[in-house]
Amino acid sequence: MPEDNKPDEAEPDHADAVDRRRFLKTGLAAAAGGLASADAVAQQPPPADGVRSDLFMPEEHWRERMTAPDDGKAYGWIVDTRKCFGCHACEVACKSENDVPLGNFIRQTIYHDTQRANGSQARIMVPMSCQHCEDAPCIKACPCGALHKGAGGSVQVSYDKCSGHASCKDACPYGAIYIDPVANQAVKCHNCTHRVDEHMDPACVATCPSDALTFGDLNDHDSKISRMKAELESEGALEQLRAQKDTKPRAWYATSADHPAASFESKLPGEGQSYHPDAYSVYEWQQTTPPHDRVPHPGESNDDPETEGR
Ligand code: SF4
Repeated sequence: MPEDNKPDEAEPDHADAVDRRRFLKTGLAAAAGGLASADAVAQQPPPADGVRSDLFMPEEHWRERMTAPDDGKAYGWIVDTRKCFGCHACEVACKSENDVPLGNFIRQTIYHDTQRANGSQARIMVPMSCQHCEDAPCIKACPCGALHKGAGGSVQVSYDKCSGHASCKDACPYGAIYIDPVANQAVKCHNCTHRVDEHMDPACVATCPSDALTFGDLNDHDSKISRMKAELESEGALEQLRAQKDTKPRAWYATSADHPAASFESKLPGEGQSYHPDAYSVYEWQQTTPPHDRVPHPGESNDDPETEGR
């Protein structure tokens, strides 16, 4: 953890992220309760199209919080599912950087097992986290006034306001929020604001060994992300997840023509869900494909005489 991440030495600009860590360590946040619990939120099936607008507060309650500071920046993400090989280093880095407890995740790589045209198994890795939606349902649903836009349009939580109501979690179409079991407060990706303010990449980006995660300022036309986005768009390789929800996510996913987003979206968590250890489904492939029945890729050697040539 960098020196500037120590809570007692934090700059004021880092207050939100640091406040959460302080709450988690001291347990004081448990006293911040007061509004209705998650159980009191009416549970309705998530709409296939659109968002849980039944959870939204009146616009005057969230209009200002939906407006990003006028800093000229627009932070965004490109996630390349073609490069991710499922090492989960991004999750580990995120957990370490943000003191995420066992069983909870700010980001998670979801697996999707599928078959290639030749019948062999393929596993698609989809790194997921908050999409930092421009029209964020979590902000509209927050009754505490805690969810808001921060620097570069990043969606943030104010930990002096969040009471763990969990309607943000119920409204998020990407399952990107969990309620911390000790602090009883909403936790989500905050774009590693404490690092970005110091001109560093988010911890997950700096850790990914396959360069599958790119973060940056989309308003800077010379930034790495802007140039990459233009190139991938010209190739027709970029998609947004659950675009029909119309939340205007600030995350774009590079996919292959064989495995477009539509082929794996049903695997991704949605409204009312959070990332969960069972979501890995690491054994699914093993169950569906006996070890000696695996078909080698074209050009791949096969040392097993029983299956050689299959
Ligand atoms: Fe909010 Fe979920 Fe959108 Fe993130 S992905 S901004 S948590 S609605």
